[in-house]
Amino acid sequence: MDQQDIRAIEAALNELPSQCRYHGDQTAPDHYGRMTRSEACCDTGIPAQRRKVAEEALARQRR
Ligand SMILES: [Zn+2]
Repeated sequence: MDQQDIRAIEAALNELPSQCRYHGDQTAPDHYGRMTRSEACCDTGIPAQRRKVAEEALARQRR
C-alpha cells in the first residue's frame, strides 16, 4: 500500500475514539463475560473497537 494511502487511512482512524467511555481500553467483545454477539464491549465501544481492528489491519499492511 502507498504511504499516502496509509496516511489517509490513519487520519480517518484518528477521528474515531480510541477508548470506550465505559470500558476504556477493554473494547474487545465478551471481556466482561457477557453473552452477546456484539462486536465490542458495548454499543458505545464499537467505534473504538473498530479503530483497534483497523489499526491492526493497517499494521499488517506495513510489513
Ligand atoms: Zn464499552
